[in-house]
Amino acid sequence: MSRIVIKTDAEIAKMREAGACAAFVLDTVKKNVAAGVSTWDLDQLAKKTMAAVGATSSSYGYGDARNPFRGHICISLNDEVVHGVGRKDVFIKEGDIVSLDVALNYGGFVGDNTVTVAVGTIDVRSQKLLKITEEALYKGIDQAIEGNCVGDISWAIQSFAEKNRLGVVRDLVGHGVGREMHEAPQIPNIGSPHCGPKLKAGMTIAIEPMLTLGLPDLRTLEDGWTIVTKDGSRSAHFEHTILITKHSPEILTILKK
Ligand code: MG
Repeated sequence: MSRIVIKTDAEIAKMREAGACAAFVLDTVKKNVAAGVSTWDLDQLAKKTMAAVGATSSSYGYGDARNPFRGHICISLNDEVVHGVGRKDVFIKEGDIVSLDVALNYGGFVGDNTVTVAVGTIDVRSQKLLKITEEALYKGIDQAIEGNCVGDISWAIQSFAEKNRLGVVRDLVGHGVGREMHEAPQIPNIGSPHCGPKLKAGMTIAIEPMLTLGLPDLRTLEDGWTIVTKDGSRSAHFEHTILITKHSPEILTILKK
């Protein structure tokens, strides 16, 4: 991976715009998650909303030219951890959990954010999974300040998840984000305090815990993209794009008032 990019004030201003845009698209799609809706319809809604605000999907066409990603966002249900692709024959059901990962380019910069949504009433263990995964994201964000290290973020997430007896996915990680969707450094969800690259003001990173009700081991489905838990247990995923400052972290993927 390339070296860590420290953004200028002008670049940070653009990252704020891209972040707000990604938050808006995510919020729009989230409001339309309901039993009976196909994942294809959600993907088309994301496509239309991005076009309406002048953004483009960072996910569409991503990857190997022989099998590029064919979704505008990632839509992952239940035991799917990440990289699910919207399909006309997959309909959301009451009791499902649905992860929506929106990464888009706006004005030359990327905003990247994810939520996992409950469809109607979900079982108690899934409720806990969503609650703890979202809280783990904020535990990580709290550590995202100048002078700390990447490992401080990782350890905050890992220790909180393990205390709550959830699996922590280690094969997928957060990342620097800027002109590119994936920049240095990697932000693992497993790690040790005071280890890894130092955080500096002007760095922009995506923090994204992925936790599981069972073991965190993964496999990829035949489509070459959708990643599921090996044991079939449910998984949740929450993500924000963050600006490191000298003081408190700034969440960039936040809705503009
Ligand atoms: Mg990401």
